[in-house]
Amino acid sequence: MKFNSKAIHGGQEDIDPAYGAVMPPIYQTSTYAQASPGQHKGFEYSRSANPTRTALEKALASIENGTHGLVFSSGLAAIDAIMKLLKPEDEVISTNDLYGGTYRLFNSIFKDFGIKFHFVGMSNPETLATYINKNTQMIWVETPTNPMMNIIDIKAIAEITQKHHINLVVDNTFATAYLQQPLNLGADIVMHSATKYLGGHSDLVMGSLVTKDKQLAEKLHFIQNASGAIAGPMDSFLALRGIKTLHLRMQRHSENAKAIAGFLVQHPSVNQVYWPGLTSHPNHDIAKRQMKDFGGMVSFSLKGDNLNDAIKFLERLKVFTLAESLGGVESLAGHPASMTHASIPKPEREKLGIVDSLIRLSVGIEDDTDLVADLDHALNF
Ligand SMILES: *Cc1c(COP(=O)(O)O)cnc(C)c1O
Repeated sequence: MKFNSKAIHGGQEDIDPAYGAVMPPIYQTSTYAQASPGQHKGFEYSRSANPTRTALEKALASIENGTHGLVFSSGLAAIDAIMKLLKPEDEVISTNDLYGGTYRLFNSIFKDFGIKFHFVGMSNPETLATYINKNTQMIWVETPTNPMMNIIDIKAIAEITQKHHINLVVDNTFATAYLQQPLNLGADIVMHSATKYLGGHSDLVMGSLVTKDKQLAEKLHFIQNASGAIAGPMDSFLALRGIKTLHLRMQRHSENAKAIAGFLVQHPSVNQVYWPGLTSHPNHDIAKRQMKDFGGMVSFSLKGDNLNDAIKFLERLKVFTLAESLGGVESLAGHPASMTHASIPKPEREKLGIVDSLIRLSVGIEDDTDLVADLDHALNF
């Protein structure tokens, strides 16, 4: 099946055996009757497996072109499960322009468990060689990155990890399987904050993993059940419903972002625009190669880089909502320096490009002319 069909039918071949419900029922149950000890219909206890969650896990495996899916109670819980594959003294090389919560989990929790992290820029994959040693177990890549929209060449990194027998994990939250399929490019595990585009309606918090490596899948299933940070049946149902329109939403997010990036680039109050679809973007060629389109996340800075101008702009928005998070049908605007990235010291922040006037937009699927008019009005501060 092609992607658009997989989004709707992928992994959903087993129609509800009870009543033939076309949509998977929400199995709001913790346990399952057994005819005789150990004799059951594949489900014993809902931490280990639940039919609604299984339906979602199969859908995710299908759209990412993997064989095994696992869902967790949040994106960070999914990352936490991956890190539990490691042992003290193991080393991880990670992109330095990383989701703040992932950085916090690595640097404030797993570092204390004896795992060593190297945070490095990966725009030139060859620099990885200097960090790889006999303890290196994992490379962690986020692309596009948040909020600077840097693009990392997954295939080039995978060539290195395969040569050294190191696991490559890609956080695919910003692109989703519609725009980019890391397993096809050589990654071993693809991770999502399903809270964002997969759920797509800002109504749940969830994480997911997909792999096509049976051994890795077995280890991750063991960790999922042993540690227990699973997603519940209601949230699994909502995420499954979200995935059914993923292709339509991602296409419109990308189209609207294109209109907005085009508008911002020519606006006299705007300094820089960061969107991988712009030919001026430093990694535009890689984005064009590994992504189907360029997604709905756009960042930009203001001329003069004045914090007060950024605040005035954000207060004047009417269609865009000032809020954390991203990936919903509604447009959101954020101020990384004071919101998502406030914990990074200013000099460090500015080195990454997160200046005081940087604004991050999660472009929704409203009418693009309304979105552009809203930005135009707000820029007239
Ligand atoms: C939100 C996010 C996460 C964390 O996911 P939660 O669902 O909030 O736990 C991880 N990576 C990226 C890129 C994100 O945007």
